[in-house]
Amino acid sequence: MTMRHSVNGTIPIDYHMHSNISCDSQATMTQMCQSALDQHITEIAFTEHFDVKPYPDGDYFYRPAAYFEKLDEARRAFEPKGLTIRAGIEVGEYHCFRDIIQPVLDAWPYDVVLGSLHWVGSNCMFDADYFEATDYRDAFRAYFVELETMVRGGGFDVLSHMDVFKRTAYSVYHRYDTTEWEDLIRPVWRACIEGGIAIEINTAGLRYSIAQPHPAPEALRWYRDMGGELLTIGSDGHRPQHVGFGLSVALDMARAAGFTRVCTYEQRQVARWITI
Ligand SMILES: [Zn+2]
Ligand SMILES: [Zn+2]
Repeated sequence: MTMRHSVNGTIPIDYHMHSNISCDSQATMTQMCQSALDQHITEIAFTEHFDVKPYPDGDYFYRPAAYFEKLDEARRAFEPKGLTIRAGIEVGEYHCFRDIIQPVLDAWPYDVVLGSLHWVGSNCMFDADYFEATDYRDAFRAYFVELETMVRGGGFDVLSHMDVFKRTAYSVYHRYDTTEWEDLIRPVWRACIEGGIAIEINTAGLRYSIAQPHPAPEALRWYRDMGGELLTIGSDGHRPQHVGFGLSVALDMARAAGFTRVCTYEQRQVARWITI
């Protein structure tokens, strides 16, 4: 494992982004790569959605063969220019759909697998109607309890946007105080640490009314204080202008929480540590 020092002020990695292989992005990999290169980001991962939940007819939108074909093209075009491109995937509710997801992970050469919880049972975390019909305490508690269950089940490398519900919930409740949920968040962190699962600072929350990354700074500090080391950063960008978005904020937040480095992945193993 080699150590590489980042130049002050630069963003070393963006480990969470989507292209038009995902159902909710129109961007080409070429556009996303060019945006990364323009910002002197040297390593990215395309982490396309593989969601089983909203596709009851079994057509999951995600096409691994098309993904790896596009990824190979992007690597041929951009790796000579100094951009390393990792093969990622963002799997939804792995603990509920292991039988469908795992064969895909086994069949294709992924570098990094993000685990996401977008649904709690039949409730989608981007559905404002659900939050409007639910007491905020019940909604938040249900999310964190389910999240711990998902992490305990393992099967992925990085826990993605650990409080993603706040993107939509905050616009309904106008409240989310991470410190109220410490007794439910710490068990999630404990499960990550014991399972060797990294967490990410996901800056997409900065683009919503909550204007806060996932996780909030206090929760990141708990992870660090509990002994959490494995950390990545990602914009969760779905458009070229989102690549790298807010990642300088994420790095400041990581340093403030006591982190001195982030990690990268290759073939689903921690590959390098990058000093921040
Ligand atoms: Zn997600
Ligand atoms: Zn995503």
